[in-house]
Amino acid sequence: EAISLPEELKKKKRPIKKARDVWVYAEHRDGKLARVSFELLGKGRELADKLGQKLVAILIGHQIETSASRLIDYGADIVYVMDHPDLATFNENKYGAVLIPLLKKHCPNIFLSAATTRGRSLIPQIAADLETGLTADCTGLDIDSKSGLLLQTRPAFGGNIMALITCPDHRPQMATVRPHIFPKPQPIPNHKGKIIRLEIENKLPENSVKVKSFIKTETKGPDLSEADVIIGVGRGIKGPENLKMMEELAYLLNASIGGSRAVVDAGWLPPRCQIGQTGVTVSPKIYIACGISGAIQHIVGIQSAKTIVAINKDPDAPIFNVANYGIVADLFEFIPKLIEEIKKG
Ligand code: FAD
Repeated sequence: EAISLPEELKKKKRPIKKARDVWVYAEHRDGKLARVSFELLGKGRELADKLGQKLVAILIGHQIETSASRLIDYGADIVYVMDHPDLATFNENKYGAVLIPLLKKHCPNIFLSAATTRGRSLIPQIAADLETGLTADCTGLDIDSKSGLLLQTRPAFGGNIMALITCPDHRPQMATVRPHIFPKPQPIPNHKGKIIRLEIENKLPENSVKVKSFIKTETKGPDLSEADVIIGVGRGIKGPENLKMMEELAYLLNASIGGSRAVVDAGWLPPRCQIGQTGVTVSPKIYIACGISGAIQHIVGIQSAKTIVAINKDPDAPIFNVANYGIVADLFEFIPKLIEEIKKG
């Protein structure tokens, strides 16, 4: 049964008729745009075109000028740049302090951001301040042709259902999307856009947290989120002592190693390697699932892989429902043979 909003909240809703345009918060690291920013621009362009509205990108940081024109190349009609030495390091309080007044002034129809650690700390406080809804971790976005509402799809109830969510009464309609859910678009040739540099007039809040340094994590093989080939390790490998065999295969295929939550919970792989609903989403060219049953919470993290190969001794394992190639075998017999064959060249 639908629950109606308390009267005091209804009064506060933003005027819907005034709300226009699709906004994308463009994430970057030291001025280098994150891949997910392009993915969001591609989807944002599609939504803006369906609505006949503009696509607006927001860039916050310091010495980020060169990224603004790239956002236009990928479809932004307007880029708001907020460049200030105090914004050089990401801080949700400071970024919120410059972003919220801008959103209140322009009242976007739709606001999209990445469901990264930064997006997850910045965006909910903005939604709360604007007294609008936020659909986190969307796996699909579209426009309803009748109402013009943003249709937001996300897994719910532990991934057992896909929920379709709309935000009919408040603006902006806010959604976060994980990296690799949408494809990276091609640049749009000769796309014209406007870069608007905004002065930071308000005094930025003091940092309650001081960042002393950034330490990059050491990983074997390519970064999981960028890897073309990923070996997914499941509980079927029995124990961490058997990871050696998987690492040898990964080395030969220039692959990265990821795993199921069962393997991460057991401490056989670090948490950053967890693929799935509560881990990372990946989109490699080839995903090789070894001893993974194929629970829905794992599948949501690999559904944009181009080719899925599954090795499992149980012919009824659900992973075979999504695999392009299925190998029913004991991985302790199959993987050493595969390694031998690859070594033969
Ligand atoms: P199992 O389900 O135990 O499967 C092991 C598989 O190995 C079996 O299919 C078996 O046939 C096969 N096997 C065993 N021995 C061999 C052998 N010798 N050779 C070949 N095959 C063999 N899971 C995730 O992965 N990522 C998530 O982000 C995630 N988030 C979750 C969030 C919530 C809210 C919940 C409730 C669960 C989540 N899970 C997640 C857990 C998920 O439901 C599964 O429990 C988990 O994915 C199972 O991991 P697994 O496939 O490695 O283990």
